[in-house]
Amino acid sequence: MVYQQSREESAEILRCVLHLMSPHPAGYHPLSYTVWYEHAAQINPPLSQDLEKLLASCAPVSDADVRRLHALHIAARDVAMFEQAQRDLHELIGRTEQDTAEAEGTLGRFTETLAAAAQQLVQRDGDAVAEMIGRLLAQAEQVCSKLNALHAQLARQRAEVVGIIDRLERAHTEPQRDPLTQLANLNGLRRAIEGEDDPRGLMDVVLLAIDIDYFKRINDTHGHVVGDKVLVKVAGILRERLNGADLAARIGGDEFAVLLRGKSMAAAAALAETIRSAAQRMLIVHPDGAQFAGDVTLSIGAAAARAGDSLETLRHRADSALYDAKSAGRNRVAVAAEGEPQ
Ligand code: GH3
Ligand code: MG
Repeated sequence: MVYQQSREESAEILRCVLHLMSPHPAGYHPLSYTVWYEHAAQINPPLSQDLEKLLASCAPVSDADVRRLHALHIAARDVAMFEQAQRDLHELIGRTEQDTAEAEGTLGRFTETLAAAAQQLVQRDGDAVAEMIGRLLAQAEQVCSKLNALHAQLARQRAEVVGIIDRLERAHTEPQRDPLTQLANLNGLRRAIEGEDDPRGLMDVVLLAIDIDYFKRINDTHGHVVGDKVLVKVAGILRERLNGADLAARIGGDEFAVLLRGKSMAAAAALAETIRSAAQRMLIVHPDGAQFAGDVTLSIGAAAARAGDSLETLRHRADSALYDAKSAGRNRVAVAAEGEPQ
């Protein structure tokens, strides 16, 4: 869904959304923003109808309600739009191909008729008329062979479009983004390396495997909501330190991966060190305002890609280095030896 509202309009809608959301227990997360946003912007009448019914019953709008409304009126609509676009594309290509084939057939018949007429004229009289028809015939044949080429080209394009649809479908069914941190997930990381978007693959890559130390304890001490905030803050630290060629991903609960391109191992390890020390300075802030410093530390393993590596073999070496960092006491960076056997 592309939202058409101007910056000013959406700021106004957002104010209204916050006002609407505040009396209800549903959490402040992207799913609920979207539901309330589409309601406040009056761009999704079936959603508004359903939501208004709920509000009229005076029941508080819970997370379960928000999830149901989102699935029913937003996710389902986006899937339906996607499927419709797919059907339209198929139909368009089918029609174009059919039109071309028909034009080809018509011209073929025309050519045959002309040939027959020429034959008859030669038998009866005038060479001049026959010569003119001969020229016409040659021209018609030329057009016919052009149409032939066009038909073949359309068939190739059809195959390409089918490939694109297939990729769209995969992109739709295999999300490549982690909804909490908005970083790539493991699919996104794999696609960045193995997909067609970047032909360099693993050439010149250093992979950092990053894991939060004793994250379970952070959850147990400060609660899961704060745990989630820590994950988002770690993602922010990674994002801030990467340049355009690099990619950060959240590949598991408290596991992150950073793909660095064109950096020596020394430069990659220095960057890992800045990431580690930034995390250590992170302040945890409770909803009641209480602040805690120094509870978040990271262990990081770094491995440089070798010829013939797959994402799995490279991850395996980065994970071994991470394990070394953990067993050496955590809150540190460990580097996989370049020539180390796997
Ligand atoms: P270690 O130093 O060995 O990495 O210890 P750890 O406690 O970080 O490791 P462990 O794998 O035992 O714990 C990871 C925890 O991450 C367990 C799980 O409850 C928590 N977790 C996983 N996904 C999420 C999430 O999305 N949000 C929150 N808040 N916690 C999560
Ligand atoms: Mg951990």
